Amino acid sequence: MNIYADNAATTKMSRTAIDAMLPFLEDNFGNPSSLYSVGQRAKEALEQARATVARAIGADAREIIFTSGGSEADNQAILSAAATGEKKGKRHIVSDAIEHHAVLHTLEKLENNGFEVTYLPVHENGIVRVDELEAAIREDTCLVTVMFANNEIGTLQPVREIGAICRRRSVLFHTDAVQAVGHVPIDVGANNIDMLSASAHKFHGPKGVGFLYAKRSVKLSNLIEGGAQERGLRAGTENVAGIAAMAAALDEAVADMDANAKKLTTLRERLIRGLAQIPHSALNGDAEKRLPGNVSFCFEGIEGESLLLLLDDKGICASSGSACTSGSLDPSHVLLAIGRVHDVAHGSLRLTLGEDATEDQIDYITESVKEVVGTLRNFSPVWRDLLAGKTSFIL
Ligand SMILES: *Cc1c(COP(=O)(O)O)cnc(C)c1O
Repeated sequence: MNIYADNAATTKMSRTAIDAMLPFLEDNFGNPSSLYSVGQRAKEALEQARATVARAIGADAREIIFTSGGSEADNQAILSAAATGEKKGKRHIVSDAIEHHAVLHTLEKLENNGFEVTYLPVHENGIVRVDELEAAIREDTCLVTVMFANNEIGTLQPVREIGAICRRRSVLFHTDAVQAVGHVPIDVGANNIDMLSASAHKFHGPKGVGFLYAKRSVKLSNLIEGGAQERGLRAGTENVAGIAAMAAALDEAVADMDANAKKLTTLRERLIRGLAQIPHSALNGDAEKRLPGNVSFCFEGIEGESLLLLLDDKGICASSGSACTSGSLDPSHVLLAIGRVHDVAHGSLRLTLGEDATEDQIDYITESVKEVVGTLRNFSPVWRDLLAGKTSFIL
């Protein structure tokens, strides 16, 4: 069996998205800034896509800026808020410990430039401590940035509540909603969101395209200088084909959202029940407030990397929270933030299901993980020490 269970890393493009893309690679290849009709057709497609994307999150088309993806949108949102804040002498930002690196590294850059950032701890289930968030806001706070859904453990944050606090305290609120858009309902008005980042390849669109929503009252500064595209806020000839495909993918994801979420939640619960039977294992993140397709576990006494390799041999694509591939032996900052100790965090596994997953596949994954965890534990000196009582079990 071949099973792709790493949809949080990226998704396969949908047929709808590919079909929406092709006309702009073929006949309608014009530059949207050109005045002749082949250019104007591209321009029309761009504006139609903007309206579609805006509608999907309850925004106005004028509030959408197309970007090269989620990372760029995160960078632009945070740096814009910082630039506005700085002019008023406000150099403090509130965020949390489990953000994506696109947010964390942007904040780090600001810290090196005289900003102060408060990184809120999270509860054991990965949910931001809202009371501490409110207490962290100061006179000089210019931005609160908290993600909508976590990419590793799938936890959904109380965004509406956080947004309401920010409104009340007159602080801008940005949310990295890359994992949430197209998967769970989002309404920027009802959720009190001032800025939101999204990425097409996380909802069956193409890679290298995304968008930033910014409420009309928010002043954006541009990261890329050049022509007057995107109202002067993001220079560069627009990725028309990619943008059209993104809009088509999002439209479809929103239309199918309820049915997909229902199906995925059932499969997710089946997988969680199966994996929970493995001794000395634990689910990461909240049992209910989580993305429909996200399953994240820690297994004591094993290394996540070996687990991934053996699962790959069985045709299963999955992911681990550890970052050995990036040359660092540090376990995931997310797993550490929810209180997993280093050894336990190293034995993590993230399975993120796609809408085409089946019960048979779930059962195959369950059996494969059980077998592979057993095999790895048999070879593990750490496991031997645990069994011998030389060290004690944590999970
Ligand atoms: C994937 C991801 C990003 C980065 O998006 P790109 O389009 O790949 O740049 C940012 N934040 C989260 C939560 C993500 O999952």
